[in-house]
Amino acid sequence: MARGPWIEGTTGVVGIFGDPVDHSLSPRMHNAGFAELGIDFVYVPFRVSRRHLKDALRSLRTLGVVGVNITVPFKEDAIKYLDSVTPAARAIGAVNTVRPEGKKLVGDNTDASGFSAALSARGFRARRKRVLVIGAGGAARAVVYGLLGSGTIDIVVANRTLAKAVRLVRSFQRKGVDLRASGLDLLDDFDFLDSRQLVVNCTPVGLKGECFLDYDVDSTPADCLHFDLAYGEKPTPFLRMAAAAKRPTVDGRHMLLHQGAQAFKLFTGRKAPLEAMARALGIKLAD
Ligand code: NAP
Repeated sequence: MARGPWIEGTTGVVGIFGDPVDHSLSPRMHNAGFAELGIDFVYVPFRVSRRHLKDALRSLRTLGVVGVNITVPFKEDAIKYLDSVTPAARAIGAVNTVRPEGKKLVGDNTDASGFSAALSARGFRARRKRVLVIGAGGAARAVVYGLLGSGTIDIVVANRTLAKAVRLVRSFQRKGVDLRASGLDLLDDFDFLDSRQLVVNCTPVGLKGECFLDYDVDSTPADCLHFDLAYGEKPTPFLRMAAAAKRPTVDGRHMLLHQGAQAFKLFTGRKAPLEAMARALGIKLAD
């Protein structure tokens, strides 16, 4: 039933757990989707402290909440309070969506498939491509998982803390794929960069107004796609650098949109209205 101007006893409640959550665009995106389809749901941000995460997750069943997204800094911690997680979430080691299913709390991760869907929507086929992933945190793990699922054959993970990149690479090693770890020194290696067809920034560097890392964008091929997971009000320094060098770019809000669309389907059972949700994020589907 369509929701009027008020929340009713029938309204399905979904939301997001994080700390902080005031910057999150997910409420705006999902509520725009509910309004577009005229469905009786509301999406609420919940700021949850680390010491209350377990109680907050348990309360989902008690309160009849339909489900929540999980954001920074709880994507990894949340797993230990759930009854089961999907194979993708298990492999990535993080959840971004939790739903009560009967007596169980089930965790999923739509970041990897959201990333892959954003690439496809951009017309980029990851199959047999050579990729540089910058960063080795939770988002980088989702990106590598998504790339491997799409048939990418050569991935280098470059990170400030080399040991973390090595751990990531070890956990995803598989036959037929060249998956290597590196420090950030590779970001100005001409021969290496010249071989890349996609560069994905999985660090928050630039969000506080600082410059991006020492990265030689001019050494990448002219059609090398630059994808920044981080996003803000303005294009990030990484995307500005790529655009100035006339390289094609994808803004992190496209991944937010596609991971959100998959969570929307899990919460409501309905196909997400992508255009309305993209509009709420201030992006165009074909951007
Ligand atoms: P995380 O687990 O905390 O990992 C952060 C990564 O960035 C680590 O590899 C870290 O390196 C690196 N890093 C941080 N500061 C750095 C600096 N000053 N110089 C060099 N490297 C630095 O975070 P995450 O969850 O992976 O998220 C990463 C970014 O992706 C965030 O901006 C997040 O908002 C964004 N994200 C976007 C979406 C989307 O839908 N668009 C989804 C998920 C995440 P060390 O290992 O050396 O510390």
